[in-house]
Amino acid sequence: GNSIPLSPVSQPLAADSLPATALPVVETFHSLQGEGLQAGRSAFFIRLGGCAVACPWCDTKHSWPADLHPQRPLAELAGEAEAAAEAGAAFVVITGGEPLHHNLGLLCQALEPSGLPLHLETSGVDQLSGRFAWITLSPKRHRPPSTELLAACQELKVVVHEAADLAFAAAMAVQAREARGGSPGPELLLQPGWDSPAGQALAIDYVRRNPQWRLSLQSHKLLGLR
Ligand code: SF4
Repeated sequence: GNSIPLSPVSQPLAADSLPATALPVVETFHSLQGEGLQAGRSAFFIRLGGCAVACPWCDTKHSWPADLHPQRPLAELAGEAEAAAEAGAAFVVITGGEPLHHNLGLLCQALEPSGLPLHLETSGVDQLSGRFAWITLSPKRHRPPSTELLAACQELKVVVHEAADLAFAAAMAVQAREARGGSPGPELLLQPGWDSPAGQALAIDYVRRNPQWRLSLQSHKLLGLR
């Protein structure tokens, strides 16, 4: 339905409770971060398999079944991150799928020797694990995020397809401020759904009228990057 959730869901999905020593990996690649406040910077991406959030407009549905993707040892991923650091990557982005379906504690430890700051992109439906320098929370209307992630994120990035997404974005911003009890809230970004002229018009109009928000574009797609 189109109802706006009034309070976040606090029960996480069933995440793997133990830190994983190998994780299902869809792909790794070194490119530019396309979205959000860090857009335009050199980044090494680790896309983990597995997502049960089931957004109808998801552009990475091939990542959903974790079993389809090879379990890769953390040491191997750490080696790739070190090579990416030498090749100019400014940070590592852990994305998915929904990366927090897995316990990311050991992955973050394994990546530490690369010296790269670790960034996370999550829908926020699970418990936070691992340690990150930058967390992008991209909450979904049909599965609102936990208070923990609303409090911990550096940026809140809401995808816009229709007017109800703007109301949801505004509600998420209020909850993120409340979740951190008076300290400044996260950076606020609206991102039009890819191929959604309606979402584009709504997001642009909203940002023009609300100075605390900014527009996020999927610039990697516009440029034909990965
Ligand atoms: Fe796709 Fe992300 Fe939604 Fe999962 S949370 S269904 S990966 S958009």
